[in-house]
Order: sequence, then C-alpha cells, then structure tokens
Amino acid sequence: MKSKYLFGPVLSRRLGISLGIDLIPYKTCSLNCVYCECGITDNLTIELKEYVPVDVVIEELKIKLSDKPKLDYITFAGSGEPTLNSGLGKVVDFIKNNYPQYKTALLTNGTLFYLDSVLEQIKNIDLLIPSLDAGSEEVFQKLNRPAGQLDFEKIITGAKKIRDYFKGEMWLEVFLVPGLNDSRKELEAMSAIAKIMKPSHVQINSLDRPPAESWVEAANAVQLEDVAQYFDNAKIIGKAKVEQKEYEFKKNLLEKIIATLKRRPVTVEDLISIFSVRKVEILKYLGKIEIDHNLEKEEGKRGIFYFIRNNK
Ligand code: SF4
Repeated sequence: MKSKYLFGPVLSRRLGISLGIDLIPYKTCSLNCVYCECGITDNLTIELKEYVPVDVVIEELKIKLSDKPKLDYITFAGSGEPTLNSGLGKVVDFIKNNYPQYKTALLTNGTLFYLDSVLEQIKNIDLLIPSLDAGSEEVFQKLNRPAGQLDFEKIITGAKKIRDYFKGEMWLEVFLVPGLNDSRKELEAMSAIAKIMKPSHVQINSLDRPPAESWVEAANAVQLEDVAQYFDNAKIIGKAKVEQKEYEFKKNLLEKIIATLKRRPVTVEDLISIFSVRKVEILKYLGKIEIDHNLEKEEGKRGIFYFIRNNK
C-alpha cells in the first residue's frame, strides 16, 4: 500500500533522518506567511477537526514501521499546521505506546497554544519546534497574516501556557525576513517572548526556497549573525553537520538498494515505493551500482527489472 499521509524518510536539515506525517490537506493553515515555501494558504482557518482520518494514518504507520527503519525522528509536518488536526494526539500516543524506540517531533507555528485542547494533543511529543516571527501585532499581521480570529495577544498567552504545560524538549525557530522583523524594537520584543518560552535553543532561519510572496528576500550571513545576538543559545541553521548526515544517509540507502537487488528483481517504480525516494535519485543510484556491481536487467510484464546475481 502506498502511503498517502507519510513521506520519507527524508534527510532533514535539522532533524536528521525523519519520517514525515502530514495530517493536514495542502495549505490549510492558521497563518498565511509571506515567506511560506508551500505558497499561499488556501484554507486560512483555526477550526480544529480531523482533516485527514487518523486511523488510516495509523495503519500506514504500522506498515512503514514494520521493517524497523533507522530514524532520528517521526515528524509531524507538511504543508499546513499539524495542530489543526484534532486527532494529532491519538497518532502521537499510538507511536509512544507501540514504538517507544522512536522519538517524535512537531513542527508548528505555535498559534494555537492558547487552546487547552491543543496543549493536551501535543503533551507527549518529544521535540516541539514552534516558530515565532513577530514581536508585535503590526508585524504579526504583515508577516504571518493570521486567520481573522487570531491576534498577537493569543500568541503571548500561548507562549506562557506552553512553557507551563509542555515538559519535552523545545527548539524555537525564528524566521528572519529582512525589512519586516529585523528592527531592534521587534527583535527585542521577540527575545522577550522567547525568554518566556525558554526553549533549549533558538534557531535563526531564513529563506532557502521560493517564497509565497516574490518580494521576500533571504537574509545574508551578517544579518543572521546580528539577529542571533538577541537570543539566548541562538544557532544559525548550519550546513556542515547536515552534509555529514547526508553522506551517511546516502551510503546507507545505496547499501539497502544493493541488498534489495540481490534479493529479487525490481523495477524503478518498486524501488521508489520501497524507499520513498524520487525517481531521479533512484536512477542515480542505479547508475552508480551499474559501474561498481554487475547490475543485470530483464524485460518483464511491468517494465525493466533490475537485479544483481548473488554469486557475482
Ligand atoms: S505557518 Fe508554516 S505552513 Fe503556515 S503559512 Fe506559515 S510557513 Fe506556511
């Protein structure tokens, strides 16, 4: 069965090898951030409901985790706000109760922390990564463009509540949009909220992919360094560690593909479905395997089947 609500494992810049769970339809969110890398929010809402059936998500997890993949995190993320799904807690608890060896992470915009029902859903998450991009109502409205029922007072209420309620690890993400949230006044206000939330560290992030609004620009290294000075334990999201992880991830994947090809003939589509890797990546690996191993091909009913004879 092909997963509808799971993606990866993927190599995440921050989380290492991460299996993603997307509990929300594309661009259903409580915010419509100008920098959003998924585009404009189609469904701007704070309505809590079971947007995707969590029982189906749990069935997909059972299949995906049956071969015990090596993961750093199972991460609730995607192209919308995961805490909008009222079944989030059920999935978290299913993982905790049945696969305690895996850690869970939640990427959230943190706008719904003022609601007790949301705090209850996320209390068993191991790693919470909320974001905070504004220190005032004005910048919140300009940069995050929230659903009508949200205002900045609710963000501050949520920041206080999450600290009292959540006992796991927390990293706070600050997304820098030059010209919007980089004034001294704004950064000092954001820093004060971060002090209330007391994350173990603050990650300073900036644009990496095309944004929802084309006028949004990436911050340069100097701007990122400047902003980092405002927060305790700030980290600019680095790349060196990721490169090492990427190397290990790719090496492991190559070995797994070779082991599969030795076990049975498979098509490119089979490999895509087994490893959840894009076609272009699979073709790259096959090219490499063809050079280093005796990769054989055979025409079959479903297309070309690739394999490696075990005795060679
Ligand atoms: S909160 Fe995240 S998903 Fe929602 S609009 Fe902002 S960046 Fe996009």
